[in-house]
Amino acid sequence: MNFFWSLVPLALAAPVFAQTVAVPPLQPGRDPAQAIDEEYTSKIREYTTEPFFNSPLTDYLPASKTVPTPKAVLGDIAGAPGILPYSTDVYKYMRMLEKATSRVKVFSIGHTEEGREMIAVAVASERLMAHLDENRARLARLADPRTIQMNDAEADKLVAESTPIYYITGTIHSTETGAPTAVMELAYRLAVDDSAYIRAIRDHVITLITPIVEVDGRDRMVDLYRWHLANPGKQWPQLIYWGHYVMHDNNRDAMALTLALTRNVLNTFLSWKAQVIHDLHESVPYLYDNTVGDGPYNAWIDPILADEWEMMGWNNVSQMTKFGMPGVFTHGTFDTWSPSYLMFMAATHNGISRLYETFGNAGADTEERTLRPSEYARTWFKQNPPLPKAKWSQRDNNNYEETGLLTALSYFAANEKLFLHNFYLKAKRSIEKPRTEGPAAYVFTADDPRPGAQAELLRLLQMQGCEISRAGAPFTVLMPAKRAPGRGGRGGRGAAIPTDGAGEGATDGAAHKADEKPKPEPRTFPAGTYILRMDQPYSRIADTLLDYQYWAPNDPQKSIYDDTGWTFGELSDVQVARVTDVKVLDAAMTRVEGPVTAPGGVENTGSIFLIHHNADHALMTLRYRFPQGSFEAAEEPFEAAGQKFNRGSFIVRNVASADLAKAGQELGLKAYAVDAAPQVKTHPLRAARIALMHTWTSTQGEGWWRMEFDRLKVPYDYISTQTVAGEGNLRAKYDVIVFPPSRGNAQAIVEGMPMYGNPLPWKVTPLTPNMGKTDQTDDMRPGMGWTGLEHLHEFVRQGGLLIVANDTSNFAVTFGFTPGVSVSAGRGLKVTGSALRSKMVDAASPIAYGFTDNLAIFASNPPIFSLSNTVGGGGGGRRGGDDRTRPTGRGTADDPDVPQGRTPAEIPEEPHAETWEATPLTDEQLRNPVNVIPPAQRPRVVLRYANSNELLVSGLLDNGGELAQHAAVIDSPYGQGHVVLFSNNPFWRAETKGSYFLVFNAILNFDSLGAGRKLANR
Ligand SMILES: [Zn+2]
Repeated sequence: MNFFWSLVPLALAAPVFAQTVAVPPLQPGRDPAQAIDEEYTSKIREYTTEPFFNSPLTDYLPASKTVPTPKAVLGDIAGAPGILPYSTDVYKYMRMLEKATSRVKVFSIGHTEEGREMIAVAVASERLMAHLDENRARLARLADPRTIQMNDAEADKLVAESTPIYYITGTIHSTETGAPTAVMELAYRLAVDDSAYIRAIRDHVITLITPIVEVDGRDRMVDLYRWHLANPGKQWPQLIYWGHYVMHDNNRDAMALTLALTRNVLNTFLSWKAQVIHDLHESVPYLYDNTVGDGPYNAWIDPILADEWEMMGWNNVSQMTKFGMPGVFTHGTFDTWSPSYLMFMAATHNGISRLYETFGNAGADTEERTLRPSEYARTWFKQNPPLPKAKWSQRDNNNYEETGLLTALSYFAANEKLFLHNFYLKAKRSIEKPRTEGPAAYVFTADDPRPGAQAELLRLLQMQGCEISRAGAPFTVLMPAKRAPGRGGRGGRGAAIPTDGAGEGATDGAAHKADEKPKPEPRTFPAGTYILRMDQPYSRIADTLLDYQYWAPNDPQKSIYDDTGWTFGELSDVQVARVTDVKVLDAAMTRVEGPVTAPGGVENTGSIFLIHHNADHALMTLRYRFPQGSFEAAEEPFEAAGQKFNRGSFIVRNVASADLAKAGQELGLKAYAVDAAPQVKTHPLRAARIALMHTWTSTQGEGWWRMEFDRLKVPYDYISTQTVAGEGNLRAKYDVIVFPPSRGNAQAIVEGMPMYGNPLPWKVTPLTPNMGKTDQTDDMRPGMGWTGLEHLHEFVRQGGLLIVANDTSNFAVTFGFTPGVSVSAGRGLKVTGSALRSKMVDAASPIAYGFTDNLAIFASNPPIFSLSNTVGGGGGGRRGGDDRTRPTGRGTADDPDVPQGRTPAEIPEEPHAETWEATPLTDEQLRNPVNVIPPAQRPRVVLRYANSNELLVSGLLDNGGELAQHAAVIDSPYGQGHVVLFSNNPFWRAETKGSYFLVFNAILNFDSLGAGRKLANR
């Protein structure tokens, strides 16, 4: 305490801010003058399973005559067995606190997809709470040093007068159930406890708490736990839906910001000008402070942040180790590369990201827990590891969560000026980026053929807090010279697998010598070009999202935590120029006020409307906005109304011009009215009837598809594999069944879960009121079954379209939906959530309408497709095997052998095919072609993976030669219908917007997919 106050006069002297010597913490311990709540305290002891699972910070609860404890709402103490409060109870308690003490205030921060409220609770001394707005105004100036002309002396003054904000977020992961009660009790302690330790926190930090981030999922989890308690001795269902759309992946949305919870937390963090986001998770014994994590660190963060991670992480371990609590550690296996985690929004916005994994039982049962050897092993960073076996309670978990948070808050309070100064310094260094490490700006050219997609990407950057400007006149900057693709290097190790595929390695600039440094070239951007200047406080998030990622195949980190690549311009199919020339900042430009939009509406007059197809997903929204309108696709490019139109462009009739103009303005689409339709071959673009199918074993992958279908207002029926089992005539109801990746093997999709135990219902009942909203079943265990599989076959044979991707492609191939397509897994291939380059194979396929070549697609452990012209046959290209090697005999390796004593026979030419093609049929195969697939029924490749030397766009690719040139998107006819297979995942975390229209084209053209096809002559 004394020590702390001695810091204040020091803090007024500017040089002190540069210190990195941390202030030692106060000693914990209750204020002997303050009474404790005896009953509550005895319950804490009762529910804590070992004395060393508690600390001097949480082994008592101070009493208050005016402020209610969590017991007022819970009926028992925080962390009591058998009790998981719904969000409404948690909020009720926080609002009781607000009523009882002026040290607590509750703020509503928005709503979830299902309409539930999210809150943030501020706790601090009366003095700080009375001046929140003034403090926020000071923090806002530190957050944007341009407002104080980058004046360090001014910043020092602001730092001296300001109080930092530490933002704690609980329960983003719904099966991790402890945080709400832990932060209820934490708020009480911070408001009530008069010990020197807690007072120092209260007086020097504003603690901000969102007790539940995933509110929809929390309420479902409480339902599930109630079902479990009401059905003793039974197995209970897994939590198949967390949020409305995604499960665990709700913590991977910090880049694309598509979930309400992400946007609400980001807006809170940015508007409060908080310094920290500390996110609470529960999956590792007993407290893994993964803040320090492991390499490779994200390459775009300020190194000051890495230092802050170390300081806070190790202080945490140090304090809790001294309390004698086992199993507290930092480092561990979490690599700090991906910026997609909720807490990482602080890291990319000049704050500090932190994350705890404590140990939870996914509910509030007290249970004997046995750990794996790797979990209880003593390592260099885990000197006091968890116990191999221990009885573990929700209260133990709450003790760890609260103790960790209190030590962190104490350390943060003691070093408040240091962290505030760092906050300013990181913002200042972000603004100085153009002239230090660069780049100077990211530039989005006005002549991008995809203005809608460009506007959408710019709106995302605006949501991330970035300022966008627009050039009023053309401007010229020097751009780095284009390098030739590396020799096999982009495919990772083993990329240069011998291949005779045409073009492989051909783009390698053989003439390009290492000593010839390519020269920068001038590039002129037209007026109207958008510029994201990097001399702004949140330049780092823009750099993180828009730059390229490279994960070295030989990186020492082998347990890669998540995706390795995400480059937003590439995956959105939007042109993004990384400009290092600081002259760009002198271009005449003005700040864009309000969200960036693409121009739209109707030009000219006439009753027929022509709309350019550029794979903008607003086109899909438009089609379903006018389901009764007549839409046709042009099968060839054409010119009309003074415009050039791509193949696939829309020709629209029976829609009122005013209605189309209104829609066009809203959606950023331009239509050109004409009196006579152009002379071009067309076919109908249907507002197809869509079903989106999920399994009852995982909804994680399909959630991202469903979310975007909803956002783009594409109507569909949401069905499960069980629906298909019970529905004899699917074709009568649907034109298209979309079956997104489901993380299950083909057999599990058919068989479902084992049927040994009791039924596992997922249903709205009085006991489980929150379980519906998406889908329901009496028993989650059965899969599609063999009947369902037959129904699905029948659906396609009768003219339906089945769309599959990644592991559901395996399902379609395994169960005979795709004659001529085979799938293999890579032997050494490693693609861990990376962006890869594709090449156009068949631009006349309706699936390719609106696309240009070289689209970047997202893949993670992609299936490797091969094609054959025969049923059950091997593939083409590289699968040709060893038939090109010659036997032992006369001559050189390339010569033919010559049998002696007769005239040499003419050797027939070997059939040759590219890797993505089927090997042409031989005369032998055609002698009695029982297995030969008729030409019109053969699979048609739309896109393939690029050659290995240019395959990698962003992320990790190793042994890329195994995947290079193989088909990536295939249209496989089957009966009267089609199956469209994706090796990539076209809908992933809202990061792959450039790929969406491959799926939408398939849907709109489901009954004309054969358009533009050139058939083999035999
Ligand atoms: Zn978690």
